Amino acid sequence: PKEYGGQDGSRIDQYIVEEEFSRIGVGVGGAGSGAPAILAAGTEEQKKTLLPGLISGEITLALGFTEPQAGADLASLQCRAVKDGDEYVINGQKMYTSSAHYASHIYLMARTDPDAPKHRGISIFIFPMDTPGITVRPLWTIQNDPPAPIGTTYGQRRTNETFFEDVRVPATCMLGEENQGWYVGAMGLNLDRVGASRYLISVRRDEDIINWAKENDLGGHEVGQDPAIRDRLAELWIEAQVCRLMTMRSMSLMERGDTFTYEGAAEKVWAPEHGVRTTETISQILGPYAQLMSSSEENIEGGLFAHNMLGAFQSGINHGSVQVMRDQMARRGLGLPRG
Ligand SMILES: Cc1cc2nc3c(=O)[nH]c(=O)nc-3n(C[C@H](O)[C@H](O)[C@H](O)COP(=O)(O)OP(=O)(O)OC[C@H]3O[C@@H](n4cnc5c(N)ncnc54)[C@H](O)[C@@H]3O)c2cc1C
Repeated sequence: PKEYGGQDGSRIDQYIVEEEFSRIGVGVGGAGSGAPAILAAGTEEQKKTLLPGLISGEITLALGFTEPQAGADLASLQCRAVKDGDEYVINGQKMYTSSAHYASHIYLMARTDPDAPKHRGISIFIFPMDTPGITVRPLWTIQNDPPAPIGTTYGQRRTNETFFEDVRVPATCMLGEENQGWYVGAMGLNLDRVGASRYLISVRRDEDIINWAKENDLGGHEVGQDPAIRDRLAELWIEAQVCRLMTMRSMSLMERGDTFTYEGAAEKVWAPEHGVRTTETISQILGPYAQLMSSSEENIEGGLFAHNMLGAFQSGINHGSVQVMRDQMARRGLGLPRG
């Protein structure tokens, strides 16, 4: 909406902008699970103070959901928020808080009622990362060392573990109603899972190798003329279009206000697994050169393909693992009983 710094565009407009920007490696402010959740569940004050900054990029959110004992089973989270007058006091630990070392704010799930059934005692808070009592420690992954070159589809975003010790935040930082955080968070994640960015990551990786094969040879072997390689690249391109069409379908369902339950889960399975298939193909085409990272003198394209290969595997885990997404598909999409 215009009053919060937007363009009054539709979901399809958003998709088109994301697609065009992502092609040249530029992110779109406000995408992700936080902004749609604020729009749907935030107070007028929260919308006015957070959404314009999220769109312009001045406000960035780290996602503080996962904990050491709560990942796929997120509702088991133990981070506590206890009401004290007009404030909540937060204590606990979050895992894999990507970008927490530079994000301006955190979008955090905490338990506000330990006696309620686990899904019903959770609330969401959004507050500045410079609030006293927060400590961020790096969690280095296979994506971070050595640093990935610019243009890598999974950049070198560092992830972290984040500790909260008597962190006091105003009660106005709560997003949505107390103990309703599970539903607000799940809605935001569901919207995020259909984002064009997921499809575009796969397509960019396909385009990188297709473009490379057009212009390069390996020891005199014209890669782009090899029939087996041409077949495989054509197949990858078709798979990428399936990804794209699934995303567009979800976007139009949302645009029409239709029920939207398992489509994000289906996309969250197809896009990451397509990405892994792409990196396997790249590995077969480039042979040992696909393994050379930015720190190797003999690397190809600054180690782009090697870094993309390592990055491809994380997308099947974060924002809902492919196993959990398949389970959601089975229940909500196919109507099978809970396993
Ligand atoms: C690089 C990276 C960045 C991340 N960034 C963030 C972030 O910014 N913010 C955030 O909050 N979290 C983030 N995560 C965390 C991510 O969402 C979790 O790792 C994920 O939800 C899985 O949780 P877990 O690691 O605790 O694994 P577990 O829950 O222990 O699961 C381990 C494995 O078992 C499988 N499994 C578990 N339960 C079932 C089941 N019932 N049926 C079938 N299979 C099952 C899982 O799919 C997984 O493969 C990130 C993770 C990674 C790797």
